[in-house]
Amino acid sequence: MSSGMPITLHSTKPGSDISCGQVLIAEDDAMFRRILQSWLERWGYKVIVAEDGAKAWSILQQEHPPELLILDWVMPEIDGTELCRRIRERQRSPYQYILLVTGKDDKQDVVGGLEAGADDYLTKPFDQNELRARLQVGRRILALQQDLINAREELRIQATHDALTGIWNRGAVLDLMHRELDRAARAETLTAVLMLDLDHFKNINDTHGHLTGDVVLREVAKRIAQSVRPYDLVGRYGGEEFLVVLPSSGKTEIEQSANRIRCAIASTPILSASPEVRVTVSIGATLSSAGCRSEKDLLLAADKALYQAKDGGRNRVIVL
Ligand code: GH3
Ligand code: MG
Ligand code: MG
Ligand code: MG
Repeated sequence: MSSGMPITLHSTKPGSDISCGQVLIAEDDAMFRRILQSWLERWGYKVIVAEDGAKAWSILQQEHPPELLILDWVMPEIDGTELCRRIRERQRSPYQYILLVTGKDDKQDVVGGLEAGADDYLTKPFDQNELRARLQVGRRILALQQDLINAREELRIQATHDALTGIWNRGAVLDLMHRELDRAARAETLTAVLMLDLDHFKNINDTHGHLTGDVVLREVAKRIAQSVRPYDLVGRYGGEEFLVVLPSSGKTEIEQSANRIRCAIASTPILSASPEVRVTVSIGATLSSAGCRSEKDLLLAADKALYQAKDGGRNRVIVL
């Protein structure tokens, strides 16, 4: 969870790139293992070796294990097919591409190896060019997979973030607020909900144009995110309205936090707008009380407080 843009946007890249080009060779025959290792290193792979299946299995428990695996079929303790079964059973993402290497060339054995979860197999002795080509097939499939993971991640960011400001969008912040209220009810902590609305924002658009208005919105979102703790939630609720959720808050914190945000916006003109623009914000705030107020009640109370802040002259905080 996070408040705003910097952490959210950068923490989401999958770490699997790290193991790109890494290959695990699990082979109990020392000579064959060395030959394989020297070929692969010559072709530019970063090689990790395991002299038996148990060692290979323990390497695969690392946080970023290799994604390209060359597994010997016959090994003591855990053999290649058993490794295949274990790897497929846990359905870990990203997918691992398995090339099974075997002295068995009986059709039935090959079928068994593929059924256990291998993607491809090679029968010993084999030609180094064939191994190289088959590894390239594996890399192609893994690269395709990485593209899909990246695209899915990009879509997830687009679906949960506001395109203009980079903070959570309305749907996401409400969803996270819901989860936070559930957590707070279990932990018996209180949650503060702040509704913010820029003052006379229409005037900024009318005077300086919509593009300047957009610059102001971006800067305001940044200032809000910078004024709260990393685990607080900041979202764009509407056009020039923001929702801030402060977990584990109390009566004193709510007022302090709201005023810190208000001052961060009002005290310094927005220099990125040209000409520079001064803007203020009105804030309506409320505190959940021992789990007996629903999400809807909290939003209504914050909205009512915001209305009073506007009515009272703007650039102020009202807590209800
Ligand atoms: P008040 O102090 O009562 O809140 O006055 P206000 O002018 O801020 O309120 P009003 O609701 O009349 O105007 C909000 C304006 O925000 C109108 C709308 O054009 C503008 N707005 C909403 N979304 C965006 C946006 O994404 N970019 C820009 N530039 N303006 C936006
Ligand atoms: Mg063997
Ligand atoms: Mg408004
Ligand atoms: Mg407004």
